[in-house]
Amino acid sequence: MAEGVEVFDERFKELLLPESRLEHLADGCIWAEGPVWLPDDSVVWSDIPNNRMLRWSAASGVETFRQPSNYSNGNTLDRQGRLVTCEHGARRVSRTEADGSVVTLADRYQGGRFNSPNDLVVRPDDSIWFTDPPYGILPGTEEGYENPFEQDGCHVYRLDPASGAIARVIDDMVKPNGLAFSPDGERLYVADTGASHDPDGPHHIRVFDVVDGVSLGEGRLFAEINPGLPDGFRFDQNGYLFTSSADSIQVYTQAGERLGKILVPEPIANCCFGGPQFDHLYITATTSLYVIRLNTRGVLHA
Ligand code: MG
Repeated sequence: MAEGVEVFDERFKELLLPESRLEHLADGCIWAEGPVWLPDDSVVWSDIPNNRMLRWSAASGVETFRQPSNYSNGNTLDRQGRLVTCEHGARRVSRTEADGSVVTLADRYQGGRFNSPNDLVVRPDDSIWFTDPPYGILPGTEEGYENPFEQDGCHVYRLDPASGAIARVIDDMVKPNGLAFSPDGERLYVADTGASHDPDGPHHIRVFDVVDGVSLGEGRLFAEINPGLPDGFRFDQNGYLFTSSADSIQVYTQAGERLGKILVPEPIANCCFGGPQFDHLYITATTSLYVIRLNTRGVLHA
């Protein structure tokens, strides 16, 4: 059995290879977040308080990808392979075009600016779903610029990049944060990290049925995550959810059963699958980027 794991269910062992070991790839960050794997076999992520994005590859090690980065946070690829990014500082969702230019996809809803878009996911119909907690505008923030709210709370939005239309799809969360679709695209999972600023606040993941491709049914509790917060998560081909927490990546079935933990020595913000076989899990955790190879494969847009 691999070291550095806790097993709660026998199914967890099937996810591990004999050589599965957590490997440390990079450090020097203040708060590493928003990892995304690129098809050139590199990983790009955000170091939010340092207002930069970094890139790691086996060939080149760590390089600066973009600085300043408008205090970027979550990153993903759209279905055309373009980088889409949540930016606290510009309070927007941006897209990096093939020529390297960065364009605004969404920066306001009904006339008011967003708080500080945090994390995002692309559905197979090209729509971009993103969360908008206030971490980049709060008093004293080191992850953006202090600013007043222009929305009436912290919500979740759906952007249609073709038309530019933006719809508010969830309006009953405290601090919506990480999000991902189930592999079949029929359910949306959304973290609420309200406990970051309120000990009695939520630190859980909710699940919503996608009703007609564009709107959501009533949310229900999926799992309360301890210790720490479910800042970000991804799905594998089994439909297992791999979520961040304070001490580990925790793996859940879609029935909400916790299978096990991949222990990480720093509090974790987020993770993503990558590698040519899509069987490497890259983990952003406070100062560092880690990777572990697994006996499963991620789902690109989940
Ligand atoms: Mg986040």
